[in-house]
Amino acid sequence: MTIQRTFSIIKPDATKRNLTGKINAKFEEQGLRIVAQKRLRMSRLQAQAFYAVHKERPFFGELVEYMVSEPVIVQVLEGENAVLKNREIMGATDPKKADKGTIRAEFGIDIGNNSVHGSDSEENAAIEIAYFFSGLELVG
Ligand code: ATP
Ligand code: MG
Repeated sequence: MTIQRTFSIIKPDATKRNLTGKINAKFEEQGLRIVAQKRLRMSRLQAQAFYAVHKERPFFGELVEYMVSEPVIVQVLEGENAVLKNREIMGATDPKKADKGTIRAEFGIDIGNNSVHGSDSEENAAIEIAYFFSGLELVG
């Protein structure tokens, strides 16, 4: 059994529509424990740095403006194979292509407004967790 931690964001389109509780229920029902969570408003610099891997993509400016447009919930999820499991619970990037029952299929609006972020590897999870949380804030 591999217990992992992964980093998650409930994005502006979802906080705006009061979907925090429904999204958290999906994580908890499927065995992920929320071991840290806070609501914050991202700064432009934070959003640009967080999504720096996409800085050459045509949608980068739009992505940054979206991430700063409303508060977000940043969170750390823990459980067996949490990185992959969370990607399964989230569904594909484009809500139209996401499997039935996934967060993005149920709540996502379009590829930009897709309700959640989840780390794509254990290595990135550690980097992203450290970007928003101190060790003392992770309560397993
Ligand atoms: P995330 O990193 O947010 O969990 P992801 O790993 O499924 O999403 P990425 O390819 O890393 O997808 O893209 C990061 C984010 O950039 C997407 O979640 C989406 O909000 C936005 N994005 C990706 N592709 C497009 C696009 N073609 N047009 C607009 N926004 C896009
Ligand atoms: Mg990604």
